[in-house]
Amino acid sequence: TIVLDNKVAFIQGGSRGIGAAIAKRLARHGAAVAFSYVSSDERAAQVVKDIEAAGGHALAIKADSADAAAIKAAIDKTVATFGRLDILVNNAGVLAIAPLADFSLEDFDRTLAINVRSVFVASQEAARYMTEGGRIINIGSTNADRVPFAGGGPYAMSKSALVGLTKGLARDLGPRGITINNVQPGPVDTDMNPANGDFAESLKAIMPLGRYGKDEEIAGFVAYLVSPEAGYITGASLSIDGGFSA
Ligand code: NDP
Repeated sequence: TIVLDNKVAFIQGGSRGIGAAIAKRLARHGAAVAFSYVSSDERAAQVVKDIEAAGGHALAIKADSADAAAIKAAIDKTVATFGRLDILVNNAGVLAIAPLADFSLEDFDRTLAINVRSVFVASQEAARYMTEGGRIINIGSTNADRVPFAGGGPYAMSKSALVGLTKGLARDLGPRGITINNVQPGPVDTDMNPANGDFAESLKAIMPLGRYGKDEEIAGFVAYLVSPEAGYITGASLSIDGGFSA
């Protein structure tokens, strides 16, 4: 059983989808959970309500992951509110898909800012507060390993970047007893990638399990990785993708 009593977690992007499932899951295991979001005020408030209704502690902070100062302020506020920081989950991400000829540099830069730069900024800030047993989880993607469609080059690049960043930061953090790992989901039914679209059928067709994952399945894996039991795993990119990359 996973026990996160007296732990404090901060999740970048926790108002919807995978991030919201992780927030609720970590709270259910006993952690106090703060999370950021950028636009979904009502969805963020609902996540806080759900966690509090289940007896947990939660805090929603509006902070754009494209803005380094906003990320740092959100982490500082988490520590000011809950007194410490043990777990960071870098989940906020954006998916821009367009044919090569049409892919805008604006989308390219935004992809890198939110999917990569924010992970570095948050990890740097969170590590200032973490002590022995601290945990950082990045939410990468199976697209770091396999990209079976056109138009997704910059997104795949952003998720591949996390593979190297995770390895390198594991070297910085290991001597302090802090682990960092990169979770690579396959298709998960969320607003970003609905399981009922045309695109979904082509993805299901190439997966051994032939179905989308549930946000709860990703959350369960993350809960294990942030638990004390997973203390010997670091620097790893771990797929939870229904066999997408097989
Ligand atoms: P959603 O689009 O459903 O949710 C994204 C979450 O991130 C929301 O809470 C959103 O907040 C937040 N967010 C987005 N941009 C920012 C920003 N600039 N600043 C702060 N918060 C932000 O995505 P998913 O749940 O599907 O994806 C979560 C992660 O998992 C992403 O990194 C994605 O790349 C990755 N992933 C997803 C897969 C899938 O099939 N769904 C597969 C593999 C990886 P708000 O509500 O305010 O917009």
